[in-house]
Amino acid sequence: MNREDKRLLKALEQFARCDAQSIAAWRRDWPEFFPHNFWKRGIKQVPEGVSMSGPGPELPLVPLWRGWQDVLVQAWRLRFPLRDLVRLLVSPVVQEAGDALSSMSEWPYQQAVLLLTREPWRARHCLLCGRPFAAEKGASKFCSSQCFAESRLNTKRRWWADQGSERRREQHSKGRKSA
Ligand SMILES: [Zn+2]
Repeated sequence: MNREDKRLLKALEQFARCDAQSIAAWRRDWPEFFPHNFWKRGIKQVPEGVSMSGPGPELPLVPLWRGWQDVLVQAWRLRFPLRDLVRLLVSPVVQEAGDALSSMSEWPYQQAVLLLTREPWRARHCLLCGRPFAAEKGASKFCSSQCFAESRLNTKRRWWADQGSERRREQHSKGRKSA
């Protein structure tokens, strides 16, 4: 995988991990990742328990990026099923497609999603923080050096805790024997 591909995957990974606070900074870093209208559009999300067959319920409008992120995170977990893949690739451009066949070239977000589906083993979740990340190596289990270091620390702490309780148990039984 070349450097540009790696950068694209990083961008997608960071997008998958954004929240309402961090999304603005992400967008500044990646202004051309999505079509511009992507940020202006909203979608109607169907809350749980609302029937779509009844008279039109008032559905709250959520930003498209939020909905797209939901689908991305779900697809990440399921290793990009075809249904999700099509929604991911098409929904941000659907309003600007126009005479798509003649003039449309691929957007960075589309390249990034396709890169990940071509090498689905990269779509992982960090063993420590549980958030999605794109693995660079087959053995990667953690999203960052911080999470890796933290998990080492936890292992040590657990070891000490086990050793400690072991020792306490020994002392406890010794104490009882001598009493
Ligand atoms: Zn992590």
